[in-house]
Amino acid sequence: MEDERKTASSDIVQRNHEELANGYPKWFRFIEYLGLFLFFTFSAIIIWRIIFSFSDLWFLSIPALILGWVLSDFLGGVVHWAGDTWGSVDIPLLGPALIRPFREHHVDELAITRHDFVETNAACALAGTPVLFVCLFLNIGNNFKVTSFIVYVVFFMTFFVLFTNQIHKWAHSKNPNKFLRFLQKTRILLNPEHHKIHHTVPFNKYYCITTGWMNPVLTYFQFFPILERLIIKYTKALPRREDIGEKAAEKLI
Ligand SMILES: [Zn+2]
Ligand SMILES: [Zn+2]
Repeated sequence: MEDERKTASSDIVQRNHEELANGYPKWFRFIEYLGLFLFFTFSAIIIWRIIFSFSDLWFLSIPALILGWVLSDFLGGVVHWAGDTWGSVDIPLLGPALIRPFREHHVDELAITRHDFVETNAACALAGTPVLFVCLFLNIGNNFKVTSFIVYVVFFMTFFVLFTNQIHKWAHSKNPNKFLRFLQKTRILLNPEHHKIHHTVPFNKYYCITTGWMNPVLTYFQFFPILERLIIKYTKALPRREDIGEKAAEKLI
């Protein structure tokens, strides 16, 4: 709560929401389709391999599912933190394609509810694709329990990562259906009230958006503030400079 005391809303300077919304590059749409295609192709090959090994390795599936679920919350949080905290929309190619959605979401948090399936989920697919690709070369079978477990975990993790932003979108939806509300209430999916903590000025906590389970844990261990102090020490970069403006960002360090 200390951060909120130090950072008044009047200090916050953000980019124009229309400018951000209009900055969605047409060329990136093609990369997004490609990312989704590769993600589902690699996933299908891995599912095929898992099915063939399942009678020998079924006991790996439940621990892999739980670990994949928790890891997706953590990794999604790390990517969200990086996108919120560093870089600028003005960086060529990466800025409008990958950093702009993070800026847009803090300026207009309902914009995500207007995004279609591709705009909502393809960036997560792109992030998961290289990891799935590596898994194609790992052995699966009774004689390869360690690599089999890694493949199982990665499969579940990337599957949940793919839907992280969809789950995030549901947390902003005005009228989620009864089943979704049940999953949100029971914290199986990101709870909207819990996620509101992230959308409170200066947007510097509770980055995890799959289940949100890791948020109190990472806050307790000061995971992101420690990481930021290390990055500031070695790069002198100012975290959140573009997200909330220089004056507000400086007050936080
Ligand atoms: Zn954010
Ligand atoms: Zn949000």
